[in-house]
Amino acid sequence: MNHPSPTILVVNAGSSSVKVSVYTVPEAAHGDGDVNPELSAHGQIEGIGVAPRLTVHMADGRPVADERFPLAQVADHDAAFRLIRLVLSIGLRDNPPVAIGHRVVHGGADFTEAVRIDDEVLAKLEALVPLAPLHQPHNLTAIRAVREAAPELLQVACFDTAFHAGHDVMAQLLGLPYRYFEQGIRRYGFHGLSYEYIARRLRQVAPDLAEGRVVVAHLGNGASLCALRDGRSIDSTMGLTALDGMPMGTRCGAVDPGAVLWLAQQGMRADEIQAMLYQESGLKGLSGVSSDMRVLQASAEPRARLAIDFYAYRAAQEVGKLAVTLGGLDALVFTAGIGANSPEVRARICAHLTGLFGIELDPGANDDNRQRITHDGSRIPVLVLPTDEEGIVALSTARLMREAMAQKAAA
Ligand code: AMP
Repeated sequence: MNHPSPTILVVNAGSSSVKVSVYTVPEAAHGDGDVNPELSAHGQIEGIGVAPRLTVHMADGRPVADERFPLAQVADHDAAFRLIRLVLSIGLRDNPPVAIGHRVVHGGADFTEAVRIDDEVLAKLEALVPLAPLHQPHNLTAIRAVREAAPELLQVACFDTAFHAGHDVMAQLLGLPYRYFEQGIRRYGFHGLSYEYIARRLRQVAPDLAEGRVVVAHLGNGASLCALRDGRSIDSTMGLTALDGMPMGTRCGAVDPGAVLWLAQQGMRADEIQAMLYQESGLKGLSGVSSDMRVLQASAEPRARLAIDFYAYRAAQEVGKLAVTLGGLDALVFTAGIGANSPEVRARICAHLTGLFGIELDPGANDDNRQRITHDGSRIPVLVLPTDEEGIVALSTARLMREAMAQKAAA
């Protein structure tokens, strides 16, 4: 009898959305060779707790479902996840998933690669919630919902911090008393799944550059930059939490800690300050208009312009900082929602870098979001590469699934 290829699910639970992707894992061509999961369908619920909308489509873009739900029906992440599972279980009845991979934002000092989830792992991830209050609780909600419904199912956690685990101590230190470093209060870095994907992709599209000193700018709702040398992360702009570095959609980026002290001295509580730094700052707080770059670009409000100017200025500064870490720069790569789709933001950032790095944008290529957006004569090439964080989660999950199957067979 012919068995269908195993199916795995990838879950990406964000602050107001839950995304679930279905992958099939074909048999490796040579026994224990590398796995290449293939995306077959994708479902997501956006607007949780505000205006829930479920969409499901096949990998080729064919729509399967598009439905809006009353708020009460999808009031939280737990309900959203249950609903997606229900919809997918109909389509996957004949080939239920054998493993689920989760994007988990913080792995702390303990987790430097993807792991199978058990009680001990879950407890350690729970302890990291204060360091990623906007994301970690939702990641863990999805894990718990699966454990409840299918306790035997293999679950894998893939961390946004893990790709940065090899950073030198210089890239990890904060200027606080050393005892805090020993307690894990150090710079970790995030968006690691995205950077891992870009490092792989760069090896495919520009192997010569991939060996060199590359800065990747992941500019989405969250935003950070990463210094890669020979495809490995050397440093990144985010730190202990996903607040550090450049300003983002609603997060502040680096601020003088004195400003946070001042807020506390004005009588703001820690939870109020936290909500402001994570949800009311960055592009949203500066512009007073929106956290969404498309809205800001279309706005005539002077403060929308101010916010974009500051965003580009700070992003460019971070490129310079990471180039110092790398001892030079061989390529700059833009990725994520803004990085891959906004010619205006890329042009503004690159304008700051022309003097120092001799970057010469090709305006036509930039406007078309082409893979290489600099002229041939540009001292440093600039590339645009869409990211695929879920693909990296699928890959790690498929590997651990294979491992688990092999162990079971050997037992
Ligand atoms: P992400 O978190 O990667 O999905 O990125 C979301 C951000 O990308 C939002 O600020 C969007 O406004 C922005 N974005 C997506 N498409 C475009 C576009 N064509 N031009 C400018 N910004 C965009």
